[in-house]
Amino acid sequence: MNAKRRETSEPGDETRALLRRLPKMDRLLEAAASVQGAKRVPRSVTARCMREVVDDLRGRILRGWKPKPQELAEEVVLEAAAGCIRRRMRPNLRRTVNATGIIVHTNLGRSLLSRQALDNVQRIAAGYSNLEYDLAAGKRGSRYQAVEEILCEVSGAEASMVVNNNAGAVLLCLDTVARGKEVVVSRGELVEIGGAFRVPDIMSRSGCTLREVGTTNRTHLRDYAGVVGPETGLLLKVHTSNYHVIGFTASVSLQELVTLGAEHGLPVMEDLGSGTFIDFSRYGLAKEPTVQESVATGADLVTFSGDKLLGGPQGGLIVGSKEWIDRIKKNPLTRALRIDKMTLAAMESTLRLYREEEKAVAEIPTLAKLTLPVRDVERRAESLCGRLRSLNDDRISLDIVERPSKAGGGSLPMLNVPSRCVSVVVEGIGAARLEQMLRSAEIPVVGRIEEDVFLMDMRTVQEDELPVIQEAFQRLLQQTEAAS
Ligand SMILES: *Cc1c(COP(=O)(O)O)cnc(C)c1O
Repeated sequence: MNAKRRETSEPGDETRALLRRLPKMDRLLEAAASVQGAKRVPRSVTARCMREVVDDLRGRILRGWKPKPQELAEEVVLEAAAGCIRRRMRPNLRRTVNATGIIVHTNLGRSLLSRQALDNVQRIAAGYSNLEYDLAAGKRGSRYQAVEEILCEVSGAEASMVVNNNAGAVLLCLDTVARGKEVVVSRGELVEIGGAFRVPDIMSRSGCTLREVGTTNRTHLRDYAGVVGPETGLLLKVHTSNYHVIGFTASVSLQELVTLGAEHGLPVMEDLGSGTFIDFSRYGLAKEPTVQESVATGADLVTFSGDKLLGGPQGGLIVGSKEWIDRIKKNPLTRALRIDKMTLAAMESTLRLYREEEKAVAEIPTLAKLTLPVRDVERRAESLCGRLRSLNDDRISLDIVERPSKAGGGSLPMLNVPSRCVSVVVEGIGAARLEQMLRSAEIPVVGRIEEDVFLMDMRTVQEDELPVIQEAFQRLLQQTEAAS
């Protein structure tokens, strides 16, 4: 700070002469306007970038840099500013190719929406809608009515409700049902699902007291029965969706909890995490408890995510008894967790697809990717190899290797879906550099490195993204050619 002050307060004659040579802002803006394409850039962005570049030069001069005249030329500043303008004009949220093989990749946007859901979002967002308007009665209606009926239909539940995400759904249910009371949970189910969502923390946030029972690997019905008393407000089961305890284990089934709850007049809730309406074992995948099963077993409340295995937009779905759902709707927290109309539009369309399982599996991208036959993945891998070979660059070596894809999103942790990866080695570019360059491409491509080789899993790559990958490679080969 002191040093800087000394420099800025008393620059010498030579420094002052250099500062005078810095291009002037109005001259720069005039020059920028004549540059092709600059017209589409807001003046504020151009001006800001010019100022940044000039400020940087000024700072360097004040710190003792002695530039040559050509280093302060107008063109130098314009060129440096062009890079800044490009970065600022590029959207921050960008389409990205997921070549990781993790289908519900939380960092890459979890689930892709079906055509039907996308169309409905477009329709509802482009015009006014009956979002909270009862068209038959001509008066205010409920926003939840859009999905209430269909959610009850596909889940078999008496009532339903939807909020912003499942973390919100769990919070809202706990707050409504058990605020100020004890919630009994097995020690084997005190999960953290990432992003600082931990069952014990969410519990204290909702004003409940966690009553842990059993041990990490074994919990018995008598453990629950032993702590139930006047303080108890809820029996909670959490689906340990993102890990698996194996070996000497025991857990209490939802059925047993429902029976215990009925004996003591206590509600029972199940947080399914990534809920599904489909029995995946029918598709050669691992068995997950379905929403319908939890409802049929008699849980008073069941919560699950909209954008994990369900394959819809982000959302927290709550199904269960009318009595509890009605109370949840009246909770003031509901307003804070309110679902947006675009999400609601996508959710309704997604849920409607579940009326026919075949249609859901075919049309919902998450399900289609999970169940895509490996021969189709192989064909896609071959197609990409063909495209990369057509670049005619003998620095590239390609191979197709067998590696499993993962469900991701904290779902089906033990599941390995057979898949095919394209492995790429580019002579003169290490795997880490290759990975980084593809990640920085105009449309970024995210793959992974295994044993020093860059891999792209073709199960999560869409057919229309093959040319995108080809182009990314073409660019990086040109760049590195020019550099070497
Ligand atoms: C993922 C998950 C949640 C949170 O769901 P979001 O929709 O991501 O908020 C809650 N509980 C469990 C068990 C989960 O797996």
